[in-house]
Amino acid sequence: ELTVETLNNWMELFAQKVSANKAYLSELDTPIGDGDHGNNMARGMVAVTEALQTKHPTDLTASLKLIAMSLISKVGGAAGPLYGTAFLEMAKTSQQTTDLAELLQAAVLGIKKRGGAKLGDKTLVDVWEVVVAKFPELTSQQIEQAVLATKDLEAKKGRASYLGERSIGHLDPGAVSSGYLFEALLEAEG
Ligand code: ADP
Ligand code: MG
Ligand code: MG
Repeated sequence: ELTVETLNNWMELFAQKVSANKAYLSELDTPIGDGDHGNNMARGMVAVTEALQTKHPTDLTASLKLIAMSLISKVGGAAGPLYGTAFLEMAKTSQQTTDLAELLQAAVLGIKKRGGAKLGDKTLVDVWEVVVAKFPELTSQQIEQAVLATKDLEAKKGRASYLGERSIGHLDPGAVSSGYLFEALLEAEG
């Protein structure tokens, strides 16, 4: 079950991880992208943290919607609309249920519909889909495994796909940031 308190802790922990790994995420995005993923995500999570602190919504749907809007307006690039869609779908679904597994399933469907990527396309879907399927018995090792598995894949979506076979051998930056998101969730729940 997702509460407003857990959600706030989750976002704070995610913002910390993104900020601490901002340079690393942009570095991962350099050989197979345009080198901005860490900056994009850090800018977005600063906005999320600020929005939650200033407006401090007290209900789950409003909180999820505020997070989605902050991500959509501040992250930019490919990742902004995708992370934004994930939280927007969770916001919609939260009107029917607060079950975290169900909320996350709605998020994955939204991401896949929005970006058109499927499992194995070397995108953040490779982490979201695998990790959400394991939920709620998810472990840190499973998250790490899903992230590392993107390394040997050839990118089929996003900027990395322009490189074709040359995208093989690099971790997908969006998969790595998504790994932080789910690590933060485990910590917030624990
Ligand atoms: P941009 O590529 O526009 O600079 P970012 O660098 O912030 O955006 O994000 C890149 C990440 O977005 C990729 O590493 C990948 O995980 C994800 N991504 C890109 N396109 C798609 C897509 N169509 N579906 C799912 N994820 C995608
Ligand atoms: Mg980029
Ligand atoms: Mg970009």
